[in-house]
Amino acid sequence: MKTINDFSFKNKKALIRVDFNVPLNTDFEVTDATRIEAAKPTIIKILEDGGSVVLMSHLGRPKGVDASYSLKHIVEKVADVIGVQVKFVDDCVGEKVTSAVNSLQNGEILLLENLRFYAEETAGDEGFSEQLSNNGDVYVNDAFGTAHRAHASTTIVAKYFSENKCFGSLLAKEIKSIDKVLNTSEKPVLAILGGAKVSSKITVIENILDKVDHLIIGGGMTFTFVKAQGGSIGDSICEDDKMELALEILEKAAARNVQIHLPVDVVAADAFSNDATTQIVDVTKIPDGWQGLDAGPTSQVIFDKVVNSCKTILWNGPLGVFELETFSKGTIALGNSIDRATQNGAFSLVGGGDSVAAVKQFGFADKVSYVSTGGGAMLETLEGKTLPGIKAILS
Ligand code: AMP
Repeated sequence: MKTINDFSFKNKKALIRVDFNVPLNTDFEVTDATRIEAAKPTIIKILEDGGSVVLMSHLGRPKGVDASYSLKHIVEKVADVIGVQVKFVDDCVGEKVTSAVNSLQNGEILLLENLRFYAEETAGDEGFSEQLSNNGDVYVNDAFGTAHRAHASTTIVAKYFSENKCFGSLLAKEIKSIDKVLNTSEKPVLAILGGAKVSSKITVIENILDKVDHLIIGGGMTFTFVKAQGGSIGDSICEDDKMELALEILEKAAARNVQIHLPVDVVAADAFSNDATTQIVDVTKIPDGWQGLDAGPTSQVIFDKVVNSCKTILWNGPLGVFELETFSKGTIALGNSIDRATQNGAFSLVGGGDSVAAVKQFGFADKVSYVSTGGGAMLETLEGKTLPGIKAILS
C-alpha cells in the first residue's frame, strides 16, 4: 500500500483529492472544520518535503455552477487550519487553472473550484479526469468519504498517474483501522450494529458474521428479530419481509459460534416524541400502542459486560432514537462502556451512517480509538467491498 511516506515531494506538485464537503451556515461560514483538520497532516508533509499542493474537492450537490456551493467560501478557513495562505482559482480544469498550477511555487497551496460544478465529475468522465490529472505530478487520494464513488477525481483520474499515485495519511489510517477490526488477531471481536433498519445493514451483518465473536444488534433492527422469534413488539418499527432473513442470520451465527446479543428490555413509548409517556418493558412483551425506542437498563448492563470482555470493537448505528433525549440513554451508556473498554486496552472503531453524529453529540469522539470519516464508504467496506477509489490506487 503506497502512502505519501513512500514519496519525496521536493519540487513536486501534489494533486490531492480531499473531502472538504463541510457544513456552511447561511453566511457561508464553515461550522465544522473536522474534515479540513483531518487533511492537514497530508498537506503539511508535502509542503515540508519542499513541494506544492493543489487541492480538489466537492461541496454539496450543486446542479451545475452555483455560487452558493463555491469553495471560495472555505478558503480562509483552510488557511487558518493549515497555517499557510491558500490561493483559489474559480474553476478546476482549463487554461485559467493550468496557469495557476504552473505558477504555483514550492510551499504554496492552491484550492480548485467545486468539482461538482461539472456533471463529468460524478459521471466519471475520462476526458474530464485526464484534464484534472494535468493539475499535478503526483496524485494523492485522502478522501475516504468519497472513496466508494467511481467519480473522476476519486477514481478515474488515478490511471493517468501510472506509479505516481498514493494514499494520503488520513485515507491510509482509515484503511488500516478497518483492517485492524476485520482481520485482527486481537480477540474477542465485537460488532455492535444499531440504527433503524435491517434492510440497510443486512449485507454488513452477513459479511461480519465471519469476522466476529460477538454481535450486538440494537436500535430499530431489534424488533424484526424479536417478532421473527415470536415476541410481541407492539407498534415498534419492524420489517415483516425481513423476518425470514433475521431467522437465517440467527442460524448462521449459531453455526459459526457467533454470540448474538439483542436487548432484553426496552424503553417503550406511547408516541414518537420526547414528551411521550414511557415504561420499561420486556422486549418480547411490548403492549399494543407502545413502541420500543431505546435499549432498557438491563440491556445496558448486559451490553456493558459484553463490550468489556472484548479486545476489538466496531460500533455502527445508535441503540435508540438518540436524537430525542428521552431515548438517548442506551446509546450514551454504550458509549461509556466502549470508553471504559478502550481505556483498558481494547481497540474501538466507530463509523458509518449516524453513529459518528451520535459519538460527536455525546462527546465520545476522543474516547474511542478511531472515528471513521466516511459514512457510506465505511458501510461498503464492512459489506466486504473493495472501494473503487482504493482499488484505483492499488492497481
Ligand atoms: P442508521 O442510519 O441506519 O444508523 O439509523 C440511525 C437512525 O436509527 C437514527 O436516526 C435513530 O433515531 C434510528 N433508530 C434507532 N433506534 C430506533 C428505534 N428503536 N425505532 C426507530 N428508529 C430508531
